[in-house]
Amino acid sequence: MIFENSIAFAKKMDRNDPLSSYRKKFLIPKHNGKPSVYFVGNSLGLQPKDTKKLVNEELEDWGNLAVEGHFEGRRPWMHYHKFSKKALAKIVGAKPVEVVAMNQLTVNLHLMMVSFYRPSKTRFKIIIEAGAFSSDQYAVESQLKFHQLNPDAALIEVKPRLGEHTLQTEDILQSIKDHGDQLALVLLSGVQYYTGQFFDVKKITEVGHKVGAVVGFDLAHAAGNVPLQLHKHNVDFAVWCSYKYLNSGPGGIAGVFIHEKHKNNSNLPRFAGWWGHQENVRFQMKKGFIPMEGADGWQLSNVPVLAGAAHLASLKLFEEVGMTMLRKKSVSLTSYLYFLLNEIDSSGTKFEIITPPDANDRGCQLSILMKKNGKRVFNTLVKKGIFTDWREPDVIRAAPVPMYNSYEDVYKFANTLSSLI
Ligand SMILES: *Cc1c(COP(=O)(O)O)cnc(C)c1O
Repeated sequence: MIFENSIAFAKKMDRNDPLSSYRKKFLIPKHNGKPSVYFVGNSLGLQPKDTKKLVNEELEDWGNLAVEGHFEGRRPWMHYHKFSKKALAKIVGAKPVEVVAMNQLTVNLHLMMVSFYRPSKTRFKIIIEAGAFSSDQYAVESQLKFHQLNPDAALIEVKPRLGEHTLQTEDILQSIKDHGDQLALVLLSGVQYYTGQFFDVKKITEVGHKVGAVVGFDLAHAAGNVPLQLHKHNVDFAVWCSYKYLNSGPGGIAGVFIHEKHKNNSNLPRFAGWWGHQENVRFQMKKGFIPMEGADGWQLSNVPVLAGAAHLASLKLFEEVGMTMLRKKSVSLTSYLYFLLNEIDSSGTKFEIITPPDANDRGCQLSILMKKNGKRVFNTLVKKGIFTDWREPDVIRAAPVPMYNSYEDVYKFANTLSSLI
């Protein structure tokens, strides 16, 4: 694709965009009466217009049916976790039995580590990326301490090479091999929240397994953003949240993937609750936990239905569009942003894009390291109704989301940025 640095070109791209009608299915926050440029879907996705309807339906059922809503509701609450399975499975490349929506991301990460991080005297190390999202760092560190291990010795952080911002796949693989038979768990992001780098899930999982480690991914920035094949790539487990690219609302219900090969493994230790118990005998309330098959068996509690309804409203859009179409537009939209940013500052004196240049190695987000006045530029963008986010010490993250952002949004952002630097 040959891009052009003009509003006319951006508008032409929007006219030819097969997904352009999806923008109308979302509420776009206004600034001075006009739609803002919203590039923060990597932090909190926009609200689908149908969300209110689905949440209201649950409120109505609760009002009209009260406890009977568990069976008589239009989406019976008893079975709520089943309604999101098919869409989630498609989004992460899984079988329905391998996924379930439950809890919050960090809670799920702990639950997965309870089952899949089982250190022994000789095999106890965990590999993560240096500068991992804080919550993941805290979760991992506290799990190590819970097992009476010293994070200084047991936690391996893979770092970028000197002068580089992102990780070389080769270095991740080498680190896995170096720690070899001492390595219990590889736990990386799918897409790194700060740099926007999309890790090579397939190779990392392959090499992790080769040395005998378990391999899990935090897909907070990957689910709904990049194509994933968790089943095929033999990933052991994964977790994600739904309020970023999955547009399911603040604090929305999170998700887990557990590979089919673990689906009936009752030897895996787990923290259990009644919603993971065999559903045909759940209400006998008897002693002795018998897990349901697959990811369902890791559920603890009954489903938060209001959050679940918001989740379904958004997942319906993903089912309609499909990740293939979404990714196709995403690559084009973000490549357009990449092109425009290079037009503005081709020598890289004012800023540097630290996200990988190859579209295969990133999602929709570009992370722009500002060389001076970054915070001031960021604040001025906000005043002009252009929302990106600021990550200390010096990065502006901009995420053109293919489901609702336009080429015109991309042009406006780049054009305004250009006028400010
Ligand atoms: C957004 C995000 C979280 C947030 O965790 P919650 O439990 O949903 O509050 C955790 N980890 C990563 C990598 C994230 O991007």
